[in-house]
Order: sequence, then C-alpha cells, then structure tokens
Amino acid sequence: MIPETVLRWGGGGSVIRELSAYGARRAREVGEENVFDFAIGSPSADPPAALHDAMRRLMETVPPAELHTYVPAPGLPSVRAKVADFLNAQFFMAYRPEDICLTDGASSALALVTRALLSPGEEVVIPTPAFPEYWVYVESVGGVVKPVPCLPESFRLDLAALEAAITPKTVLVLLNSPNNPSGAVYPRGDLEVLTAMLKRRERELGHPIYLLADEPYRELVYGGAEVPFLPALYPDTLYCYSFSKSLSIPGERVGFLAFHPEMAERDRLFDAVQGAMRMTGYLCVSPLFQLAAAECLGVTADISVYERNRDLICSGLRELGYRFPEPRGAFYLLLQAPEGDGQAFSRRCMAEDVLLVPGEEFFCPGYVRLAYCVPEERLRRSLPAFRRIAESCGILP
Ligand code: PLP
Repeated sequence: MIPETVLRWGGGGSVIRELSAYGARRAREVGEENVFDFAIGSPSADPPAALHDAMRRLMETVPPAELHTYVPAPGLPSVRAKVADFLNAQFFMAYRPEDICLTDGASSALALVTRALLSPGEEVVIPTPAFPEYWVYVESVGGVVKPVPCLPESFRLDLAALEAAITPKTVLVLLNSPNNPSGAVYPRGDLEVLTAMLKRRERELGHPIYLLADEPYRELVYGGAEVPFLPALYPDTLYCYSFSKSLSIPGERVGFLAFHPEMAERDRLFDAVQGAMRMTGYLCVSPLFQLAAAECLGVTADISVYERNRDLICSGLRELGYRFPEPRGAFYLLLQAPEGDGQAFSRRCMAEDVLLVPGEEFFCPGYVRLAYCVPEERLRRSLPAFRRIAESCGILP
C-alpha cells in the first residue's frame, strides 16, 4: 500500500517547478526571448574558474580508486578538517574535524536534522515567509511547524511573537538569513535578543532548544549587510551551509552541517544524524566534489552580478509604482501584489509571460516572489511587460 503520508508530498510537485516547466513550454511557442521566467532560484553566475581548475587537478592527481569510491558518510577526513579550519579562522570558533558532516546540499542537511531531532508532536518554530520545503521535512517525521510571521513591510523577526511561540514541545527554531524569499538579512541586535531569549527558555523548560541556521545565501549580501555567525551567539546551533549558490553548483549537491563542540547532547545528536543518513539511504557526497569544494572555501562565483540585477530591477519596478521591501541579501524580491492577492497577481503576470511565484507558497499571502538570479538582459527586457501589468492594475505613478 502506498502510504498517503508519503503520497501527500509527491504527485502535484512544487509550484515553482511547475511554473518553470510552463515557462519552458511557452518559450518553445513564443520564443525564449519573450518569456520572463523569474520562478526558480537557480544561480545564473558561472562557477568560479578556481572550481574547474580544482576539479581538473583532482581528476589528474587523485587515483581513480580514491575519487570514485564510497567514502565515509560524514565526509572525507581531510575535507572535514579543512572546513573546520576555515570556520575557525573566519568566525573565531573551535570546531574539530569530527564536528563537520558533509551533506548533499542544505536540503539533505535540513531533512537529516529534522529526522534526527523530532519525535511526533514536537514543534519547530519557523519565522515566515520561509522556504516551503521546511514543512515537508518537519511534517514528514510527525513534527509540527509553528509559523511566526515576520514584521510587516521590513520582514524583520517579530521577537515578541517568536518568544510567545516557544512551548514545552519546542525542539527547534529554524532561521534562514539572508532570507528566501524576502531578501531580509536579520540584524545582529535582533539575533542577540533572540538567542538570549532562547537561552532563558532552555533554562526554564529544562531541555535544549536547538537553532538550525540555514545559510546557503551567506555571501550574497548587498550594501555591506552583516550576516552574524549564529553558532558564536548560541552554542546549541546547528550550522547548515551549502555551496549551491556561492559556487553556483546546485546540481553537484555539496554542503555541510557543523555541530558546535559544546552543544547539548552533541554526541547523541551527531549519532542520530548518522542514523537518519542510514534510514534514508544516504551514503556520501561525491568525493570529487567534496575535495573540489574544500579547495574553494572562501571563493565565490562572481556574485556581483546579483547586486547589479537587484539594483536594476528594484529601480525599474519602483518607477512603475510597485512596492516591495528593499532586498539586502539572497537573490529574491518580494513584490506586494497591487490588489492584495498573490495568486491572482501571479496569474495576471503569467498572461504577460512573466513568471513569479505566489507568496502563498512561502506562507506570505499578498506577495509574489521574483528570483533575479537571471541574465541581466532578461530583467531589462521584462520591464515593458511589468509596465503593461502596472497599467492594468492602475498603479503607475
Ligand atoms: N534553504 C533555502 C532557504 C533555500 O532557498 C534552498 C534552495 O533554494 C535550500 C535550502 C536548498 O539548497 P541546496 O539543497 O541546493 O543546498
């Protein structure tokens, strides 16, 4: 029997992927240059030359028997050591190689941690808007999401509401900054208040409340925004990183989890993540890409393109009367739906071959998400379509 609990997450697929499939169909009908697909957050910058150089060097120098073999699930010892050294040098931490666990991007890290930590009925607090896959990871293991809307307009954390959402059943708080989809970067002051509150609530409740810092967009910040390193503020933090966006390799599937050496139940939690790996048939990240990523720590693709894109689309849309919070990071813009309904606005845009994801997908009704990780030319050429849409909604200044 196919369990309904599993089927629930399949079949329909994700709205984002459906929109992109529609875009590909329309491109065949009307020409690629006439379709403005801003649905999916796939990096447009090329991977850095350093990555390809490292891959070529590794292919030539590492014996095939070491490059194509099974390797330990938490990663190659040399790679774990390099990652720990990098984090320690960057953030003044004291990670040991054994505190690092390579993962299949951030997605698998999130799925493994929720499976390792949650028993049915336990709660995960998530500020919204948020990445929709969080719900799949939490609910598929019987956990319960407690969404906490961010403050209107700024999309900063609502600290009072977050505190009110913590209950004796809270096991995890999941934070994503720079944020997909709002582009918000949570300021240090807010994170200090949040982590002080969590420490106090841990003491009062007598059990750990873990923080999961999901940071695939750490380097993608604009105007000098700071992304504080959460494990330095709160030892019960699981730090989740991915090379998908920084090195533009979402298809290669490389990321890691860092377990703070002083976190509560560190050894049991590490073992539980290894257990979750076995339970889900997770074996290892490709040794070639582990080694290549480890040689590129601190290197990024040319991410300056995203800042240029941000400036271009923000000024273009502002002139047309659209309203949105200024994105400080990642490569997304949350546009207010002029008539208040994100789904209706997404459909209106679709009629002009502009593909935007309804905010409802991210638990943010009344908005649509525009992913500006696309060639600059596509953004520029989309502005006349945005003008026609603005005219039809009556928002042109
Ligand atoms: N977390 C957030 C907030 C994301 O936006 C994404 C991808 O878009 C992921 C996690 C997963 O990224 P990956 O599995 O490619 O590392």
